[in-house]
Amino acid sequence: MKNVVVTGAAKGIGRAIAIRLAKDRFRVLVNYNRSIDAAQKTVEEIKKNGGVAESYRANVASYPEVKKMIDDFCGKYGEIHGLVLNAGIYIRKNIKEMSLEDWKNTIEVNLNGAMYPVKAALNCMKKGSIVFISSQLSFKGSRSSAAYSASKAGVLGLMRALSLQLAPEIRVNAVAPGTIDTDIIANYTPEMRRERERQIPLGRIGKPEDIADVVSFLLSEDSRYITGATIDVNGGLYIH
Ligand code: NAD
Repeated sequence: MKNVVVTGAAKGIGRAIAIRLAKDRFRVLVNYNRSIDAAQKTVEEIKKNGGVAESYRANVASYPEVKKMIDDFCGKYGEIHGLVLNAGIYIRKNIKEMSLEDWKNTIEVNLNGAMYPVKAALNCMKKGSIVFISSQLSFKGSRSSAAYSASKAGVLGLMRALSLQLAPEIRVNAVAPGTIDTDIIANYTPEMRRERERQIPLGRIGKPEDIADVVSFLLSEDSRYITGATIDVNGGLYIH
């Protein structure tokens, strides 16, 4: 059985990715930081469908915690075949409102927290696939968070460098979601949702499963000749 780590997998996009990869017959490490109940529910859902998963608490912004999580998983089950760097935060404040603490937290979770699991897993990954979850806001900027845009653009730089450094054994790619229906857009009013739907050529806000299916592809043999790529999954909201 192949082993995969999904960060921030208790809810939202990470949860859908964990569930999908378990269906693809991966043993899934469901990482979470604070959402212990949600993480447990994700694991139960996977087991109910005959999959194999366990949850593990680690703050992705802490290298010692990430290293322990990876070492424990590797020690228990051997080689890791996949990493999905999904954990992320989005603090909606423009540059005038944002504190330096907001900036630091965003970079620490979204950028450092995407790199730490890779660094920690190198001795345990011989061959496999790494997928970063970036954002369309890495390309087009964000009115509400410079830190988020910068961190998600940083993730793409990291992905491109690693795709060269880890080839040919390990493929490294990114998915750039558009607007996806999770807690991150929980503050949208019905009018904001309708307006966003009008802007999306495919006519609807995305579902977490829309991202999970593409991550599944990037972890599968079907994507064997793809590395260093960013796949937009945004319903056509941003075409470039
Ligand atoms: P979400 O808030 O539901 O999920 C984020 C997950 O990351 C949560 O489970 C959270 O607990 C976890 N997390 C946060 N900080 C953590 C930490 N320090 N350590 C471990 N886990 C931590 O939001 P989501 O929409 O599912 O977001 C998933 C990813 O997709 C994020 O990287 C986000 O930036 C990205 N994304 C989301 C959208 C969208 O519209 N929803 C669009 C583009 C990109």
